[in-house]
Amino acid sequence: MAIRVLAPEVVVRIAAGEVVERPASVVKELVENALDAGATSIGVECRDGGVGLVQVSDNGAGIAAAEAATAFERHATSKLASFADLDSIATLGFRGEALPSIAAVAEVEMVTLAAGDAAPAYLHLREGKVVSRGSRARSGGTTVSVRNLFRNVPARLKFLKSAATENSHIARVVSQYALAYPAVKFTLTADSREVLSTPGTGRLLDAVLAVYGLEIAGSLLEVVESKWSGGAVGVGGLVGAPAIARASRDYLSFFVNRRWVNSRLLAGAVEEAYHGLLPSGRHPVVVLNITLAPGEVDVNIHPAKSEIKFANERAVFAAVQRAVRSALTASAPVPRLAEPAPAFVAPAGVVQRAPRPLESLLDTPPAAPATTPLFVLPALRILGQLAASYIIAEGPDGLYLIDQHAAHERVLFEQVMTERGQQRVAVQGLLEPASFTVTPPQNEVMQLLAGELAGFGFSLEPFGERTYLVRAIPACLGRNDWAAALRELLDSPPGGPGWPEKIAQSVACHSAVRAGQTLTDDEMRRLVRDLEQVGTPHTCPHGRPTMTHLSLAQLARQFART
Ligand code: ADP
Ligand code: MG
Repeated sequence: MAIRVLAPEVVVRIAAGEVVERPASVVKELVENALDAGATSIGVECRDGGVGLVQVSDNGAGIAAAEAATAFERHATSKLASFADLDSIATLGFRGEALPSIAAVAEVEMVTLAAGDAAPAYLHLREGKVVSRGSRARSGGTTVSVRNLFRNVPARLKFLKSAATENSHIARVVSQYALAYPAVKFTLTADSREVLSTPGTGRLLDAVLAVYGLEIAGSLLEVVESKWSGGAVGVGGLVGAPAIARASRDYLSFFVNRRWVNSRLLAGAVEEAYHGLLPSGRHPVVVLNITLAPGEVDVNIHPAKSEIKFANERAVFAAVQRAVRSALTASAPVPRLAEPAPAFVAPAGVVQRAPRPLESLLDTPPAAPATTPLFVLPALRILGQLAASYIIAEGPDGLYLIDQHAAHERVLFEQVMTERGQQRVAVQGLLEPASFTVTPPQNEVMQLLAGELAGFGFSLEPFGERTYLVRAIPACLGRNDWAAALRELLDSPPGGPGWPEKIAQSVACHSAVRAGQTLTDDEMRRLVRDLEQVGTPHTCPHGRPTMTHLSLAQLARQFART
């Protein structure tokens, strides 16, 4: 179809709004255009977190030279002709807004060659206006280069995060499309570094392997493509075994008619399917393709087209829940988690696990007093343990209940921060170096963190593509799951405390004694003594309370003694 400017009555029905929020939005729009053009190979290159350059090259259909400039007009699209088409959109784009919106906030060059044209067309735009045109060499397809994003919109520029964070958003976008289109070969380079490369074999598992690595790819169960809800909803893809659950929802990928979408409804259906298989705070790895008649889904409710509305939500929910559940139950034996002890709720992000040997708690060196205590805990006398999770203690003014995990986390956090500050971190070498593979978004964070991690005792050497050789870890992590600690860190959302604190939090959380672990009197005494030494004994590093106090006065009131 030729590129035409949409009629005003169609334009008013299109959800308005800015499509370019950050460099990753540019990548998303350009990749979607390349996919709509039928490309089988898409290269994305960015520099300086995408602010310096985002360049997307494809081998798709190209744009006829005569139409190249039209493509940059507002509401010019080849994908939609009339009102009626809006109700059954089969392409990723349809608004004709992306190219003009991008050209309005950046400098853009495009080279494109369509079949039937003798020579490629070249356009250079500044502030949305064509400043030069001509021809440049290239074979069939399109390359769009976007430079100096937001230079003329300082307010936007100010909102962007570090290059590493923007790179990680870009890596996420490209990773998601690579999962949605396994037949397309994707490459992503950031500042000349290859971040991701998928083989384009058409097999979802190959794409997952390229994006997530072997650990995840090796633990996936297939959701065999099939129809549900009376044939209306197709569901297929791969779902992770409960053992590879993650602390974040970033590993839930949903594609509705090949469009990457955020959907609470779909996330809810998956969570239902995993009900009873995951502890709270853990989320599965899922890559699901959902297919519906185009008229059954409205993609026209959000400017970035990442949110959608289903005509029949119940049918979609039921289809996804059943499809995933049957994949999980078919893969017998699905490990069933023991029901958590009813007396406690594990702190968010903390996995319950088999108790580790008790002496390991005694192994931990005493915490050095980190700072002058702001609040000195009174000397406490240990009375016992409740629900294998709380220490019951008596102080001069009543009863103290101490959350053993939170308290130990606080103690270890202070210890780790102090050791790092004094550059005398206790390190433990691994008998055999272990390999640790990260996803492209994680790798961006890794680039940023490598130095900091070394300061905490991690010895990580680059070892091929997105893989690191781990030779040593902080000693306090001991036999614990250092890989989970690292992964949680690399997935942690931007913002919040600085990286040193986040690293210390993660190390402390994964080293600390768990809820559900029986402690000896000695271990409890040791923990409480260490807690008495730290600067802020009342909260764990995440800000949750470590203890509650019931004063003698309160007790007296309770028993109506006053
Ligand atoms: P939309 O994708 O919503 O149609 P865009 O502003 O993203 O709007 O693109 C405008 C038009 O330019 C598209 O409809 C398409 O015809 C053409 N186009 C953009 N990028 C490409 C590409 N990589 N290959 C072929 N055609 C393209
Ligand atoms: Mg588009």
